[in-house]
Amino acid sequence: MELGRELEKLQEKVIHCRKCPRLVAYLQEVSDHRPKRFRDWDYWSKPLPSFGDPDARLLIVGLAPAANGGNRTGRMFTGDRSGEWLFEALHRFGFANRPNSVRRDDDFALTDCYITATIRCAPPDNKPLPEEIENCRPYFLKELDLLKNVNVVVPLGQIAFTQTLKCLRLKSFDVPPLAFGHGKIFPIRTPVGNGLKPFPTTPRMISLITTYHPSQQNTQTGRLTRPMFHKIFKMVKEKIENKG
Ligand code: SF4
Repeated sequence: MELGRELEKLQEKVIHCRKCPRLVAYLQEVSDHRPKRFRDWDYWSKPLPSFGDPDARLLIVGLAPAANGGNRTGRMFTGDRSGEWLFEALHRFGFANRPNSVRRDDDFALTDCYITATIRCAPPDNKPLPEEIENCRPYFLKELDLLKNVNVVVPLGQIAFTQTLKCLRLKSFDVPPLAFGHGKIFPIRTPVGNGLKPFPTTPRMISLITTYHPSQQNTQTGRLTRPMFHKIFKMVKEKIENKG
């Protein structure tokens, strides 16, 4: 099956997933009690599919959809404050056709970049339970298998970093204990295909590049500035083009 179609099929499965009853109930609650400023919106309120270029070399890993952001619009990071930072940076470095996106049906498109998340349903207080992250992990693992050109992974923030490492450990020969910090690069050797098989096919190198999450908590306090965030994507570009 063609790769793009396989990814689409996976995302269709995600959209219909109901593995986490607490989150399913919460999505309905968010939709029923939408804030006044969004009262005319028809909330998506289902698990959010990942999206982007099936041939991407860059994979961005978010934590979870925002209740009144991606969960409202139906596309990851679309219509929320973190997305404003992320899309601006992606556009600046040539991974997106425009610097902003507020609706799912606009013409925003990614090139050489794919965006996923550690869980696909907005959790209460942005805090998923460990079992909910476990429930959602198979989707991420499947994406890692399908996105065969990915050689740079950027998890947004410490939790996404930890969860990405867990996924890569399930697929890797040698991931040592790694400490999170802003602007670090970790090279990881990963088998293509299912890492649980005893003799994986051709290994590939993945560079894991770390960043603080572009949440308002970080951007409004100055913990993460635009130059700091742009520097991450400069590192990404250099790695992808093998200059780093
Ligand atoms: S968080 Fe993931 S596993 Fe849980 S219901 Fe949503 S899509 Fe399914």
